[in-house]
Amino acid sequence: MNKPRRGNRNLMRAMNRNLLLNIIRSQGPLSRTQLTELSGLSVGAVSQIVTDLIETQWVTEAGESDSTGGRRQVLLRLNPTAGYVVGLKLMENRAVCAVTDLEATVLSYLERSLPNRETPTAVAETLSQTVIHAVYEADIAREKVRGLGVGLAGVINSTAGIVHYSPFFHWQNVPLADILAQELSLPVYLENDVNTLTITEQLFGPGHGVANFAVLTIGRGIGLGVVINHQLYRGHKGGVGELGHITLLPDGPLCDCGKRGCLEALAADPAILRELRHALDNGTPSCLTSDTMLDGLTQAAEQGDELAQDLLKTSGHYLGLGLATMVNLFCPSLIIISGEGVTAGPHRLDPMLDALRAHAFNGLLEDVDILIKHADDQAWARGAAGLVVGKLFESPLLQSPQTP
Ligand SMILES: [Zn+2]
Repeated sequence: MNKPRRGNRNLMRAMNRNLLLNIIRSQGPLSRTQLTELSGLSVGAVSQIVTDLIETQWVTEAGESDSTGGRRQVLLRLNPTAGYVVGLKLMENRAVCAVTDLEATVLSYLERSLPNRETPTAVAETLSQTVIHAVYEADIAREKVRGLGVGLAGVINSTAGIVHYSPFFHWQNVPLADILAQELSLPVYLENDVNTLTITEQLFGPGHGVANFAVLTIGRGIGLGVVINHQLYRGHKGGVGELGHITLLPDGPLCDCGKRGCLEALAADPAILRELRHALDNGTPSCLTSDTMLDGLTQAAEQGDELAQDLLKTSGHYLGLGLATMVNLFCPSLIIISGEGVTAGPHRLDPMLDALRAHAFNGLLEDVDILIKHADDQAWARGAAGLVVGKLFESPLLQSPQTP
């Protein structure tokens, strides 16, 4: 039999180390005995790797297990301050930035406006300054920052770090990760913003341990993140989850994408406000004005304004049709409804759930958990930071050299 080559042995060691680190992160605090049972590795291998993880401060001791007749054992947990990560979420004309520890606890958070219609280089310069400022505010050692995660709407090639298409910035094939990595001398990971939120729900939220789940975001746009068999599904070129651009009315209103009758053009927040102005122009009675925003409209609906209620109901109905299509395609066991748009409350969400139940394929909604979870700006920035945490704990087979 051939002896394993050194490269193979090193990879095997790195994989075992990664395995233990992931078990401690997701199921800790655990004793060495529990780690041995859960990992299937030998007692000697677990002992050696744990010693190394403690020496390098990735793992700390966290008290002792309760005595149940046997010997009390020292418990091990992930050291949340073994490193820090930075998350940036880019929006139409501003960016939000968060620095977190490895358990997604936010240490600093700030918001910056972005130069309007500027080149990617000019935007990247503002972003870099924002990151440097946020790290300074977090009061942490610069060398403990493990990477930057960037989330933005559009088709993102996360493997290559390229913005394939951004609807807000009108960029095509911009190597944003490279530009930022050069400015900041940090590993930079780029991902569709809804995917960053999905990864973070998987690591730290209700998606933890769930094999098949989906995250729908409602707000300025409509997005979808899908986890299939514990893996974020990216599809070809990263263009998964454009649920906002399925056609519901071929002759419907024009969408930002240039096509007509997309779900987004019928049900996203700007669509509601556009329909409000149409209705007011046509003389529909209401207490609303043409410059009312979504929160004002929500309030009016709660106070009984029929136009506000009708607009939210129509949006919810179309969202439900989109969700039913998603359920028919992916059959998840958990759906997380998120984004700023969920603050519109039951006048929007109840019709959405009604349409979902009416249009999902027979039986596919049975035992499906549906969670409504508001995501504010900070949640999006934290989501982008979670992208880096996910990378740090990825299998060494997939990792870049900068990761532990
Ligand atoms: Zn569209």
